[in-house]
Amino acid sequence: MNRGTLYIISAPSGTGKSTIVGEILKADPNISFSVSATTRAPREGEVNGKDYFFISRTEFDDLVRNGGMLEHAEFCGNCYGTPKKAVFDLLDAGRDVILEIETVGAYKVMDSCPEAVSIFILPPSLATLRHRLEKRGTDPEDVIKRRIAEAEGEIKKSVRYDYTVVNDGLEEAIEDVKAVMKAAKKMTKLNNDTIKGVLEKC
Ligand code: ADP
Ligand code: 5GP
Repeated sequence: MNRGTLYIISAPSGTGKSTIVGEILKADPNISFSVSATTRAPREGEVNGKDYFFISRTEFDDLVRNGGMLEHAEFCGNCYGTPKKAVFDLLDAGRDVILEIETVGAYKVMDSCPEAVSIFILPPSLATLRHRLEKRGTDPEDVIKRRIAEAEGEIKKSVRYDYTVVNDGLEEAIEDVKAVMKAAKKMTKLNNDTIKGVLEKC
């Protein structure tokens, strides 16, 4: 059995990555979402264990100290991290896994898991990004300002990602991300076992 593919998906807050990832997960039951741990307070409608594991700063620090995180980072005053064991268990079982994470953590995963496929989703403009954050209505004005301020630096870091998709029209962006994920399965770096298998038959 082939190991699953690890996908890293990043985008400035408000771009639409949760919306896009949600549609991709609905369309393909073979893809799993890595549920991150965070010290951020839950937003209305968010479910513990589904959207995030909402934990205290002490619990978060303990997880990091005990080597339980694949990566972790601070973003807009809160801590976020990817529980390591859950991700590797899923990949070993042959399932594809999506990490929906910000750029500092993404760079760490690119370094530690070079086989990971990274996709950066861009907003059409910073003005559109602000409009989407306001329309979402989940964050107060000061948090929106902080998130917009982070966006420019994050967009500059998109250069290291394997693929870039612009989320202007939602349907098109979903199709683009699906197409990229499918194409990535054919990347040579993910097909060493296939190549070896063919050579063994010679
Ligand atoms: P993120 O996960 O990147 O922070 P969300 O998925 O929460 O972003 O999307 C932010 C807001 O923008 C939501 O209200 C969502 O419905 C909206 N949105 C997402 N994609 C589009 C799009 N292509 N056009 C217009 N609004 C969008
Ligand atoms: P939000 O508070 O909007 O849910 O997330 C803020 C940012 O943290 C987003 O860019 C989101 O992708 C990122 N994030 C969510 N989980 C993780 C994680 O486990 N690790 C890292 N590094 N970033 C994360």
